[in-house]
Amino acid sequence: MAKLSFKTLSFEEHKNSDKRRELERKTGKGLQFKESQVKELQVNLLRLFYTMIPFEEVEKISPFKIIDAHTIEFIDINQEKAEKKFSFLLAKYFANLKNKLTDNPATYIHQNSEIPLIGNVSFGIVYRNSSIIEIKPITSCNLDCVYCSISEGLSSKKHDFVVEKDYLIEELKKLISFVDEKVEVHIGMQGEPFLYADIEELIAEIETMENVHSISIDTNGTLLNKKIIDNLAKNKKLHINFSLDSLDKKKARLIAGTKGYDVNQIKEIISYASEKFRREIIVAPVFVEELNKEDIEDIIIFVKSLKKQPILGIQNFLRYKTGRNPSKGISFEKFYAWLEELEKKYNIKLKLNKEFFNVRKTKLLPKPFQEEEVITAALKCPDRFPNTSIAVAQERNISVLGCPFKSEKNEKKVKIKIIRDKHNIFAGKLL
Ligand code: SF4
Repeated sequence: MAKLSFKTLSFEEHKNSDKRRELERKTGKGLQFKESQVKELQVNLLRLFYTMIPFEEVEKISPFKIIDAHTIEFIDINQEKAEKKFSFLLAKYFANLKNKLTDNPATYIHQNSEIPLIGNVSFGIVYRNSSIIEIKPITSCNLDCVYCSISEGLSSKKHDFVVEKDYLIEELKKLISFVDEKVEVHIGMQGEPFLYADIEELIAEIETMENVHSISIDTNGTLLNKKIIDNLAKNKKLHINFSLDSLDKKKARLIAGTKGYDVNQIKEIISYASEKFRREIIVAPVFVEELNKEDIEDIIIFVKSLKKQPILGIQNFLRYKTGRNPSKGISFEKFYAWLEELEKKYNIKLKLNKEFFNVRKTKLLPKPFQEEEVITAALKCPDRFPNTSIAVAQERNISVLGCPFKSEKNEKKVKIKIIRDKHNIFAGKLL
């Protein structure tokens, strides 16, 4: 007998009704089928992602039982063999990993995936030779904001990524040791970080790193509650940046792009967090002139009403090629003039400069290859957008444009001309 327990995986049993109908049609022609032929084992990875394995495939290992959400028991096989066979099955079916919110396909990036964490702007680690290192454990968002600069959220059709926490920590430590001076770690991802099941452990581990002077995280606040805030508040280096675009219930929903958004809950969480955290929290509305000009004044009044006043970091909406663009936006000149007016009217600091964020230039991370260079790399998985793949060479990953990923191409060696190398974020063209 073998008992397999997993912290990051959970199991559920499902019946596939399409398969049942298909088999019933065939049974009508005199064929018999077993119940296990329509059953599937749903394997959830880090809460948000899942894959389905036919029961029959799992039963090939040995008859099995789901003992609890995280434990599976195989009856007629020893531990070692069960572990080996089940991990082989997981690897096979993780190729069909999906996001539960959107059903978009996803890739799990872990220690043995042989996909480096440096090279892509949407997952892993981004180091722009400055004292702020960005980390991105997942892509995906539970809102659908009308101004989202990366078109993320419930209507997204992009490929998603999820990174194993221990792998991210290990690579981050290597980079911090290379930089060799105090840095801020910013968890600023393409999506909502609290969708990542391991986020609290991730923050707690970064908190213990000597050369990290602060940790910052951007959140829409929807997945937070008082208990999570209490746990997070134990991290003395943590800053939280909340997005908040309107206090009007209807308008806030319109901007968030989903009826489930409850601005009163966010106000309550901001108010609670502002008192709990040692460091000031930041409330960061995105200003879209046509959408929330008057709402910004309500937000100023709300922020000023709190016992421990958060910092207000109003951001000017900017148009992005790959974003949702509900407005033309306004110039920074006009934006700062308006902020000045508000500063006087409400006696509050609103213009935050670079010094406020304490960004310094730090050591250059060598680039293993440069723009225009032709390299050989191994294709590994799809990238965010259709017709793009991720290839790997010399401890970097490269976005290969015009190259739709097909599973049979996995590990295929290709020649790529590098067309972008800025900050060790690489893009290339297939030759
Ligand atoms: S919360 Fe952020 S990532 Fe999510 S849809 Fe809104 S702007 Fe995009």
